[in-house]
Amino acid sequence: MDFRGQYPHIICMRPPPPDTPANPEQKLSYQLKSFGRLWPYMWSGGGLRDRIRIIAAIILTLVSQIILVIAPFGVGYSVDAVKAALDAGSIWADSAVVIIGLIFGYGGLKLLSTVLNEAREYIFAPVGQRAQREVATATFAHLHKLSLRFHLEKRTGGLSRIIERGIRSIDFLFRFLLFNIGPTFLLLAFSCTALMLAYSWEYAAIALVVVVAYVWFTFATTEWRLKFRREMNKQDTEANAKAIDSLLNYETVKYFGAEEFETARYDSAMAIYQRAAIKSRTSLATVNIGQSFLMNAGIVALLILASYQILGGALTVGAMVTIPLVMQQVYRPLNILGFAYREIKQALTDMEKMFALLDLQPEVTDREDATPLTDVKGRIVFDNVHFRYEPDREILKGISFTAEPGQTIAIVGPTGAGKSTLSRILYRFYDIDGGSVTIDGVDIRDAQQLSLRQRIGIVPQDTVLFNAGIGYNIGYAKEGASQAEIEEAARAAQIHDFITGLPKGYDTQVGERGLKLSGGEKQRVAIARTLLKNPPILILDEATSALDNTTEREIQAALDNARGGRTTLVIAHRLTTITGADKILVMEDGHIVQQGTHDELLRQGGLYEELWARQGEMA
Ligand code: ATP
Repeated sequence: MDFRGQYPHIICMRPPPPDTPANPEQKLSYQLKSFGRLWPYMWSGGGLRDRIRIIAAIILTLVSQIILVIAPFGVGYSVDAVKAALDAGSIWADSAVVIIGLIFGYGGLKLLSTVLNEAREYIFAPVGQRAQREVATATFAHLHKLSLRFHLEKRTGGLSRIIERGIRSIDFLFRFLLFNIGPTFLLLAFSCTALMLAYSWEYAAIALVVVVAYVWFTFATTEWRLKFRREMNKQDTEANAKAIDSLLNYETVKYFGAEEFETARYDSAMAIYQRAAIKSRTSLATVNIGQSFLMNAGIVALLILASYQILGGALTVGAMVTIPLVMQQVYRPLNILGFAYREIKQALTDMEKMFALLDLQPEVTDREDATPLTDVKGRIVFDNVHFRYEPDREILKGISFTAEPGQTIAIVGPTGAGKSTLSRILYRFYDIDGGSVTIDGVDIRDAQQLSLRQRIGIVPQDTVLFNAGIGYNIGYAKEGASQAEIEEAARAAQIHDFITGLPKGYDTQVGERGLKLSGGEKQRVAIARTLLKNPPILILDEATSALDNTTEREIQAALDNARGGRTTLVIAHRLTTITGADKILVMEDGHIVQQGTHDELLRQGGLYEELWARQGEMA
């Protein structure tokens, strides 16, 4: 009996995506070092103007915090003034003036502090944005410098997410550390100093001890709560994965009448989520109560001390108003410390990942004395080339051949023999492990990569296009190419008529990776852009997928156009297309096992004759 009929969920179930919480083991000091790496982008990147902005932002921060500290003391002194006026039997009007002055003075100072804060954001925003842009651009440019090996191993979506999150983290860190947490601690320092100068050191000491306890408590409880949040996120992901999987399998669920089973499965995932969410929420209450207790205990302690001193005549009643106002100012921003701590840790991890990308060394680099390849005639020599992608598997095992300028060299052989690898080596996507590759006698490792790649054109096996217009994709080969040049290349590649027949002509969007075009059309776009590039060396990596006869003939004609006078390496699967080649290299398992013209090879017998006979049978 087929058990799958009974247990449809076994077939449908997909493992839930792995949870990726911030690594809790990550050392904060290490992460802070990443933060330090941002500083040069801030300070040195934008010249004198930006430095002035940074200094102005710091001064505004200082001034706004000083104003915040002064305001409550102003209230205290005003209260004392009112009391003095009343004690002196002064008329009501005098006291009213003081009270109104007090309201406006206090309100005005608080408003001024807010205005200064906003002015600081206004002044600093261009610096922060410029630094973000520079880091993003540097990372992006660096990604293009990294080797093909790196890109094949990385998920592109993952890379863009690292950059995106890294950039967002820069903004977040600056906003929080420089404009929120930093000023709060500054405010604390100023407030303690003011309390000490205005009253006595005991006030400063109590305020400081309470804030330290508050911060410690917040950090400790946030760490404790993190595990509930992680559990909550994990269960959320899991419930989502189950829901999506189940809906994707809508038909299968119906086939097996498993609606109730699916609903129960989803509900059980949601139940676990619910438990984690409740824990997360109730634990927040503990944090809030603890914070409130510490905060108010601190204020009460200060007020008790103040009452004693007022009764003893050492302080005036104004202190009873000033102290709670000062302390509340310090506590209010500390309220979000737990959230900020968690987010800052996450932001530091994100930023660190981005900097780790920036630290990766490109595998293939230009030597310091590398020279540009100019005036290339097109003599290519592979001399005893050895190469491996992975250390324990050699792919090219001593390849030697010469292509004279203008010759067409065909490379044939069974799949996986290493044919396309030759083109990647010639392009220097990888460095070889032994032997040498020269163009016109220059070792390609001594040439500048950019100039090397400018001299070679490729029509790859699978053409990938940009998600833009056809015209854009062809013009990509030559910066500033005119429409006439693009059309001429398209004509030579036998695709002009097809393009002009489309409703939007050269502006037709080709879709992601060019998926809206057929294989044959994409290949002709690739041929057109290679023709526009006009390189002295050409690599044609024949498509493995079968094309119909008409398309194949058209493409062949386009390729013949492309070849004219250039040294051409043709990686061929259909031997009929390369019978006219000047030389055919027959590759097998990383070796060249035969070479010669078509007729010579047929006469020799061996692998080539075998391949030829096999294709003849299939045709
Ligand atoms: P085909 O005719 O199918 O295109 P080919 O002769 O062009 O094959 P290559 O693409 O050169 O073959 O690959 C040669 C061998 O190297 C294959 O066995 C392939 O699995 C392996 N290979 C290719 N690229 C990589 C890579 N990036 N990492 C590891 N191994 C690779």
